[in-house]
Amino acid sequence: PESKLPALGTTIFTQMSALAQQHQAINLSQGFPDFSGPDYLQQRLAYHVAQGANQYAPMTGAAPLRSAIGEKTAAQYGWQPDADKEITVTAGATEALFAAIAALVRPGDEVICFDPSYDSYAPAIELAGGVVKRVALQPPLFSVDWAAFRALLSVRTRLVILNTPHNPSATVWRQSDFEHLWQAIANQEIYVLSDEVYEHICFAPEGHASVLRHSELRQRAIAVSSFGKTYHMTGWKVGYCIAPDAISAEIRKVHQYLTFSVNTPAQLAIADMLRHAPEHWQELPEFYRARRDFLVNALSASRFEVLPCEGTYFLLADYSAISDLDDVTFCRWLTEHAGVAAIPLSVFCADPFPHKLIRLCFAKQESTLQAAAERLCRL
Ligand code: PMP
Ligand code: GLN
Repeated sequence: PESKLPALGTTIFTQMSALAQQHQAINLSQGFPDFSGPDYLQQRLAYHVAQGANQYAPMTGAAPLRSAIGEKTAAQYGWQPDADKEITVTAGATEALFAAIAALVRPGDEVICFDPSYDSYAPAIELAGGVVKRVALQPPLFSVDWAAFRALLSVRTRLVILNTPHNPSATVWRQSDFEHLWQAIANQEIYVLSDEVYEHICFAPEGHASVLRHSELRQRAIAVSSFGKTYHMTGWKVGYCIAPDAISAEIRKVHQYLTFSVNTPAQLAIADMLRHAPEHWQELPEFYRARRDFLVNALSASRFEVLPCEGTYFLLADYSAISDLDDVTFCRWLTEHAGVAAIPLSVFCADPFPHKLIRLCFAKQESTLQAAAERLCRL
């Protein structure tokens, strides 16, 4: 068939994990932990399976999970969404992002993204007939140039997609960024899709600046999160989105025919976990800070220059002192010859991104990070 996405290949995460496996390299590329989530969560999954919770969940999500998400949101951001009308459980954040884009973007609509941007946004926009407009973020700070942002706005702008803490740059937005965004779009009917899957992996002193803390913006916003990140269970594929009633209703129209609903026992187990152990997500910054610091220390003897990491479980490293190769070629070389797989940054950018930066995932056991760092220090 004639491709609807002719320029698109297989995602870099699949490519690099396959290459890592082929060369038995330590895989710091695709972002996933090499340890499992809490025992209690695993036990509750087995419990609900044994209890017979094995048929379709309600389309919008299991009621105990939606209400637990509502309470957690209130505890975290000081505002409680309506569990029946404003919270929808999805098959990972990926489905929430796709459903939101499909529900809101019409042919010819413009969507503003910040490059480097997570790779699932643009294909969803294109499938909906939308046009991607990109604001380039520059290392090392990757901060938004709000004048450049305003210059991209037009009467066709329909949606802005942001991600904080930001994959892949590991930088975070401040509350002032959300205020800039609001000032820029207040007078137009523009929606905001805020990808906050790393909301609990934020090391900034002021904490995670969620769109949900902004009382005006959140009336136009869809906030997306993922239990894959929060509970170290990326393979469970349970996420959710929070949006005002009218926006949620449109997203649910897509969700009901994309997946209909999300696997039942995992939803019930996560609901139990949220209620039983709220300290788990409260302690997550410290948990990942220790891993980040471990990798930063271990790389201090290397020729990589590590960039500041304020959030996510990714660390950027500049390899200018080691190689002149472009980042995609360098990551392949690194996997094949140094035995460590990483992700190049340029794949997240539409415009040339000539920087020599790779992304390393530190959601790993110390022994894994130690072994990878030893290999990287030899270069
Ligand atoms: N957005 C970002 C920025 C991500 O990094 C990821 C996954 N790593 C997702 C969305 C998708 O999350 P999920 O695995 O829950 O679908
Ligand atoms: N989001 C993960 C990452 O950034 C990968 C998810 C995936 O493989 N689709 O590495």
